[in-house]
Amino acid sequence: MDFPILIATTLPAVYTRFMLRFIASALFASLFISPVSQAQPAGPDLILHHGKIVTVDHRFSICEAIAIRGERIVQAGSNAEVLAGKDRQTQTVDLAGKMVLPGLIDCHTHPLESSLVEFDHPIPQMDSVPDVLNYFAARAKVAPEGQWLVLRQVFITRLREQRYPTRAELDAVAPGHPVLFATGPDAVLNTRALELNGIDRHFTVPGGGPGRVEKDPQTGEPTGLIRTFARFVKVPAVGRQPTRLEQERCLAELFRDYNSVGITAVCERDAYPQQIPVYEAYRQSGAATMRVALSHHLDSEGDLATVRENVRRIAEHPLFKSKDLMLRIIGIKTYLDGGMLTGSAYMRQPWGVSAMYGITDPAYRGVRFIPEERLRDMIRATTAAGLQFTAHSVGDGAVQALLDAYEEVGKELPLRRTRPCVSHSNFMSREAIEQAARLGVMLDIQPAWLYLDTRTLLKQFGYERLRYFQPLRSIFEAGAVAGGGSDHMQKLGSLRSNNPYNPFLGMATAVTRQARWHEGRLHPEEALSREQALRFYTINSAAIIFLDHDAGSLEPGKLADLVVVDRDLLTCPEDKILGAQVLQTYFGGKLVYSAAAKTSAP
Ligand SMILES: [Zn+2]
Repeated sequence: MDFPILIATTLPAVYTRFMLRFIASALFASLFISPVSQAQPAGPDLILHHGKIVTVDHRFSICEAIAIRGERIVQAGSNAEVLAGKDRQTQTVDLAGKMVLPGLIDCHTHPLESSLVEFDHPIPQMDSVPDVLNYFAARAKVAPEGQWLVLRQVFITRLREQRYPTRAELDAVAPGHPVLFATGPDAVLNTRALELNGIDRHFTVPGGGPGRVEKDPQTGEPTGLIRTFARFVKVPAVGRQPTRLEQERCLAELFRDYNSVGITAVCERDAYPQQIPVYEAYRQSGAATMRVALSHHLDSEGDLATVRENVRRIAEHPLFKSKDLMLRIIGIKTYLDGGMLTGSAYMRQPWGVSAMYGITDPAYRGVRFIPEERLRDMIRATTAAGLQFTAHSVGDGAVQALLDAYEEVGKELPLRRTRPCVSHSNFMSREAIEQAARLGVMLDIQPAWLYLDTRTLLKQFGYERLRYFQPLRSIFEAGAVAGGGSDHMQKLGSLRSNNPYNPFLGMATAVTRQARWHEGRLHPEEALSREQALRFYTINSAAIIFLDHDAGSLEPGKLADLVVVDRDLLTCPEDKILGAQVLQTYFGGKLVYSAAAKTSAP
């Protein structure tokens, strides 16, 4: 199909869509002049009617009824118009006025990893440093002495005390075990763990690369806090490891739970080669109810020729070439800076000395992983291969560096068609927003972070420095594309998970800018309207993962991925958005979740 691709790359999108429709309708019409198809065309398989169907089309039109044949929508309109097409085999469902939305799309999640986190043992909710210490004390009782005790992604911004547990505290609860308390790229180790890795007062960062061992300014001893710890700390796998079959089962279970909160498509934003076969097995199981796009992991370190070779290999992968809507590689993901939850996001201004984040150097701006020239080289190779480039970029320094690199590469290569992206893009500026809009750079943003982390960020940076923190309204008004996601990394359960993947929490936060354990609203001038919040989790996320021609809105020709919700999200009180319940989820025209049945089907 070279012809449509040629059109797609040389003409504006609206015209392309028109041409494709024209070709489609010509093909459709040709069916009726052939002598073998004299019979009336079959009616739709399914009609949903008497609803408030939010199509999220270009005009944000709302209709009453929708007809589905096979896995696609064939008509959307008034009850009378759509029901007129009904025939004897058409199943009809009276929506009784309920709201219907396009299937929701989470454009940044880590489903497989998340689904396996509690495989060995359940991990309790931890809201304070004592909770963390109690967890390690309990694990020390059951794990043999000398075995690593590891806790990942309990972010200090979300602990009541807003600080790391100290090396001494970890020693006190588990003196006989090496202990690792890791949040994103940073971690605190106890004495046993430091010793095992040869980290003492004389330790220096090898090769001057990224990373940093925090030392007590008085004694010179490591405090236990290490930035980008994975470069120096080797932690063996501990606990019961899932077999391939168990991994497939855990993934399928998680995806059923995603369906129960209305999610029908996701982007795995850091797929490692060993994870891909599990996604393939899920896709081939015959019971898949989730469209999965993969951003393939790309390591930025080491020989540049090897990095380029890895890009080339990803572009050769059959999942990139196949364009299968159920499972595709869309591009690569790499990491440009550390995290705001851990004190290592790369900022334009210094972080400031902070007891909370363990920062002692007043000039410290965070950690940047990829130097300028290498970044441009990686983007060039990725774009030339037709892959989407995205990098984890949290701080305004990292976001700006990535946009500038895109700007440079865009002078040589047609950047826009690979839909370059900034993942997280938490701290921005007016200029960065306008630059993203001008370059066609897309942003995948997680409002749950605003909900969970505002309290700590305010304490660290103050209100004014958060002016362009997740500036969603400005992004929409500038005409840039921002899509909603969760960055789900751990556990099952849409609100107990970390980060919570409930899309209604994301929408509510984007609309209210209200946060946990915090009075007031964070820069309410950046709040989205209801309509924008719905676009954010549907058509915009679809655009980010190259699914907007087939999903993200409810229009004839598109896939019948849709959800029925229990309330009117356009008119309900703001504080009722979060509690929205999905009543039914349809995937490719088939009912895959029903709250009434309290189980997923099939
Ligand atoms: Zn992520």
